[in-house]
Amino acid sequence: MTERAIFEAEDVVKSFGGIRAVTGATMDVREASITALIGPNGAGKTTFFNLITGFYRPDRGRTAFDGRDIHGRPPHVIARLGMIRTFQLTKALTAMSVLDNMMLAAPNQPGERLSGTLLRPFAWRRREREVHAQALELLEIFSLTRLAHDYAGTLSGGQRKLLELARALMTQPRFVLLDEPLAGINPTLGARLLEHMQRLRREEGVTFLFIEHDMEAVMNHADRVIVMAEGRVIADAEPHAVRADAAVIDAYLGAG
Ligand code: ATP
Repeated sequence: MTERAIFEAEDVVKSFGGIRAVTGATMDVREASITALIGPNGAGKTTFFNLITGFYRPDRGRTAFDGRDIHGRPPHVIARLGMIRTFQLTKALTAMSVLDNMMLAAPNQPGERLSGTLLRPFAWRRREREVHAQALELLEIFSLTRLAHDYAGTLSGGQRKLLELARALMTQPRFVLLDEPLAGINPTLGARLLEHMQRLRREEGVTFLFIEHDMEAVMNHADRVIVMAEGRVIADAEPHAVRADAAVIDAYLGAG
């Protein structure tokens, strides 16, 4: 983890009619960190993810990724910059093989830009081979190799979560956002997913921000924990400090 913030949000606000979902969230995420976003149910965590990845338009606030203003930018622009969130597989994707899902998640082929030159077929084939190799490597890491030719719809809930992360990694992102990656996943697959996040952070400097209710995983794997309650950030510290924070204990007990 470096001291540099790869992502910054300042006073982000969103209401739905009379419901104030995010009431002024300010935070930063340090580069190459694994940062957890926690908070009681209804604290505004998922809405915040939707706001910063362009799926909802904030009423107010400022967001920046890698020093660039991304406030109000559409999801595909934000994704292209290298800030990507995982998605649940849609109906169309579940009717496709696991491997095809991976191939489809790769960004546009650079060969397209070579259109009209003699190089094109070779560049395209080389690119396809690279994408194929990358897909197989990720499937191997996530223990999905033997399911590569099965329909994605036949995967268990946990295997789908792994495929969702593997798909996101096909874009070679710099900042990955995950909404409850461990929910519904068996502990072995969960441990594998966390190990893989640690390795990517360590070896490739990828940054992760994950929403999670599994406190053990948060305490053991996050470098930093940001706590939201009632639409804003009430704590931001290392795991052991957050666990002892009176405002955090209050927010959880109050929500219970
Ligand atoms: P959980 O941990 O239970 O997933 P959360 O922290 O992710 O909760 P959000 O799902 O962001 O919380 O919800 C924050 C508040 O905003 C809740 O009161 C919720 O009902 C409300 N809310 C979220 N999305 C919408 C929407 N599209 N329309 C109306 N209200 C919404």
